[in-house]
Amino acid sequence: MKIKESIKPLRPYQPGKGIEEVKKEHQLHYIVKLASNENVYGPSPLVKEKVNDGPIDFEIYPDGYAEKLRLKLADSLHINPDTLVFGSGSEEIIQMICRTYLEPGTNTVMATPTFPQYKHYATVENAEVREVPLLNGKHNLEKMRKQIDTQTRVVWLCTPNNPTGCYISKEELRTFLKQVSKDVLIVIDEAYYEFVFADDFPEAIPLIDAYENVLVLRTFSKAYGLAGLRVGYGVGSKDVITNLNKIRGPFNVTSIGQMAAYFALEDQRYIDRIKAKNVEVRSSLEHFCNQHGLLFDKSETNFLLIHLPTSGITVSEKLLTYGFIVRPGELLGVPNSIRVTIGKKEDMDAFKVALLECI
Ligand SMILES: *Cc1c(COP(=O)(O)O)cnc(C)c1O
Repeated sequence: MKIKESIKPLRPYQPGKGIEEVKKEHQLHYIVKLASNENVYGPSPLVKEKVNDGPIDFEIYPDGYAEKLRLKLADSLHINPDTLVFGSGSEEIIQMICRTYLEPGTNTVMATPTFPQYKHYATVENAEVREVPLLNGKHNLEKMRKQIDTQTRVVWLCTPNNPTGCYISKEELRTFLKQVSKDVLIVIDEAYYEFVFADDFPEAIPLIDAYENVLVLRTFSKAYGLAGLRVGYGVGSKDVITNLNKIRGPFNVTSIGQMAAYFALEDQRYIDRIKAKNVEVRSSLEHFCNQHGLLFDKSETNFLLIHLPTSGITVSEKLLTYGFIVRPGELLGVPNSIRVTIGKKEDMDAFKVALLECI
């Protein structure tokens, strides 16, 4: 059977090792997964409590408009409910964007390395992918702007960027938006927004009033701790949202996902606590790296990209024998590094000891 030419070179997503697999393979009882930037503390306890009590009719399709969640989220973001689109994770919205805006003969501009799904779905649509190397872990916006031409449909700004954790400042973003034609969609992926402390991190959502070509992506998978339930959202102009909705599956977010996200929003104090704990443990890991002469990218997220004197693959395999699952930089486009999710304090203290044994 013949498949689309564009997907021939693609490979199915390679998941990292699972907890059970590592336990078995290395005969360990306790495994710490620091590979996918999930919230190691889990969601607010309120979520489990409410979802367990919740009246969910499993036989009924979900609300395709996600009304309860939509109204609550719109209220907390101070936006019009119709400027929201929901996805089965923000990853699905990335796919929707590519389907809606890209086709053969068009191109899309992004950093490298960055979140890999932009390139993946753009390739499926047979669009040309123009990648601009990061500069010290940061987007090189000047060079990215020069890659934009009349055939450019979408530009991806991942901020803070995965896998480096570096962000685009308010001033840099303003300058960039002013210079780029308004017929190019600018996607601002803020998957780690809730972790950011930097004073000059831009509030991107209010920019949509002036820039109808901006679409901001957020997710309940990271700080909110709901990665397993798959809920992400986009905020954009009515025009962009209407077009994305044309190709959105009508029931793409499950009833449980909608309900869990709704209750997660009720407990903002929990998110504040997660943010505070994360920065405390991350600072301690940074301090450790400094002490041992390990370089890292300046992160505003719940992960740290640590540069090593040796292969990240070798080090991550050794770390498995100590029960730590991390992501080797080789798989993310940064050789000789590992990307480490910021775990709980006690786990990270053990991680530091193990890391010294492995490098
Ligand atoms: C984790 C992540 C996402 C995807 O999250 P979903 O679980 O699909 O909502 C999107 N962008 C970046 C940069 C991420 O790190």
